[in-house]
Amino acid sequence: MPKKRVNRYARQIILEEIGEDGQKVLGRSSALIVGCGALGGVIADHLTRAGVGKITIVDRDIIALENLQRQILFDESDIGIPKAVAASKKLQQINSEVVIEAIVKDFNPNNAEKTLGSANIILDGTDNMETRYLINDVSVKNEIPWVYGGAVSTYGMSMNVVPKKTACLSCAFPHMPKAGSLPTCDTVGVLNTVPSIIASIQATEALKILLKKEYSHDLIVYDVWGHDFKRIKIKRSSNCKCCAELDFEYLNAEKMEVATTLCGSNSVQITPAVEGEVSLERLAKRLKNAGDVTLSPVHLIFEAEEVTISVFKDGRAILKGTDDETLAKSLYAKYIGN
Ligand SMILES: [Zn+2]
Repeated sequence: MPKKRVNRYARQIILEEIGEDGQKVLGRSSALIVGCGALGGVIADHLTRAGVGKITIVDRDIIALENLQRQILFDESDIGIPKAVAASKKLQQINSEVVIEAIVKDFNPNNAEKTLGSANIILDGTDNMETRYLINDVSVKNEIPWVYGGAVSTYGMSMNVVPKKTACLSCAFPHMPKAGSLPTCDTVGVLNTVPSIIASIQATEALKILLKKEYSHDLIVYDVWGHDFKRIKIKRSSNCKCCAELDFEYLNAEKMEVATTLCGSNSVQITPAVEGEVSLERLAKRLKNAGDVTLSPVHLIFEAEEVTISVFKDGRAILKGTDDETLAKSLYAKYIGN
């Protein structure tokens, strides 16, 4: 009779698919989760509970009331706190054995490879295609697998990208969809069970890939309202710009100030061309003359005219109360400066 002992992973160690050896593999593994909203939160929750040794969460956003409908790691007391910070605190309470790293940053071409570090897998918890193409470039260039996921309305999709083994995102969708051409959670909404299901599929595929088991080579599309589940075969394209020609256009994008409208939140994010540490204390002093300023260890909140500006240590800012990128850029220039 094997000796009985208490083990938090007992229920998955007895699974034939994982076992003692598989559990050790997970414990030695490291995952990078890009975006910690509805998808990223569920992925992080599963991987933390499953005992993936190190989990890095990178997210640029702060928690708002309208996130609570579907972002399961957060509650009302987290409103106003950066998602990566609140998520890591919660996850650490769930499993203190896992090393959790929180990065409050925009995942962009300037920092993508540095953020990847020594992760064995990347999970997509983002809400926009541009970041997904960037993840795809980073993945293929560094030969690190990633798991794509997206959810909107009552359906979602997921696909594994394992460099040299499967098709990549550019094989499946060679051209980036035009701005405004895709439905977003802002325009059509999202049923809160959809991201949970898609993220659970993503986490499952991540475990299979980390354990070196058979994984899906298909694009999975699932509509939860009509229970319509599709597996679409995606072939590697011999003239794929990314995985065939190794032309990493998103990763090599020119470094420039970027304004992005954030999905579903009437906000614009400004990412400065050059990242550098900003002294929030000094900035707070300067801004006090112009309006109300609140300072936290990770960011500064400033009420400017009709918008609320949150400035992070890396110079990035989220302007809430507008979706006008030009106005956002000019307010950034006016109050934060370059
Ligand atoms: Zn490709």
